[in-house]
Amino acid sequence: MKSILVVLDGLNYQVARDAMGYLQAQCAAGRGRLYQLECELPSLSRPLYECILTGVTPVESGIVHNHVDRLSTQRSIFHYARDAGLTTAAAAYHWVSELYNQTPFDPPRDRHTSDEKLTIQHGHFYYDDAYPDSHLFDDAESLRRRYDPDFLLIHPMNIDDAGHKFGLSTPQYRNKARNADGILSRFLGDWLAAGYQVIVTADHGMNDDRSHGGILPEERQVPLFVFGSAFSLQDAAPLQTELCGTVCQLLNIAHDKPHCADLLA
Ligand SMILES: [Zn+2]
Repeated sequence: MKSILVVLDGLNYQVARDAMGYLQAQCAAGRGRLYQLECELPSLSRPLYECILTGVTPVESGIVHNHVDRLSTQRSIFHYARDAGLTTAAAAYHWVSELYNQTPFDPPRDRHTSDEKLTIQHGHFYYDDAYPDSHLFDDAESLRRRYDPDFLLIHPMNIDDAGHKFGLSTPQYRNKARNADGILSRFLGDWLAAGYQVIVTADHGMNDDRSHGGILPEERQVPLFVFGSAFSLQDAAPLQTELCGTVCQLLNIAHDKPHCADLLA
């Protein structure tokens, strides 16, 4: 089944639980469920993009800090999907393009791409952390309508950006989470009606020192919302390293990564 993976960069679990009223309403109506996930370490962005998309921990992948700017040496959801003849797309931060398409990122070449030979075949990639989430979701929806991807990654940055500017326990940070919830309310119904399975999660959380990277609960605990008919909505204890394999199960494609069977119907 076609799948959309939304990675809300830097979104802490408790803030997601408390601030995202639309997603919570869908869960309360029996159309989804919120799980808590503990991110792998270090609780940093590029290492955990790689972890989510390949199922490999940072110390195993070698993507252990944000400035490892080589291509990934692991097999990602994009690789498995493209090799199965499916269509891949992403609206994401430019580090995702560097991991799976081309590196170093060359904005005129890489910001907007459409090439079936690329691992991420259709992409819009940004590099300004303040690039508005509203525009990023529109970029993603444009890809969805134009190319009908089987797998679409959507990765906005404004929540993480507010956390670095103001910290975890601030109105500014929480309001960016509320804003993302509002944007999702514009799209989620259409995605589900079109038959997509939808996962909404985060790479890592945030702390009150305006950073992340360590083992504090607020840095490690992130949300995992699931929506769609392929999910069991039953008790489960998913791991971040199981997201890659779980998405491949949804897509019904061959892979060699662990997945969380309890999440699936
Ligand atoms: Zn960050």
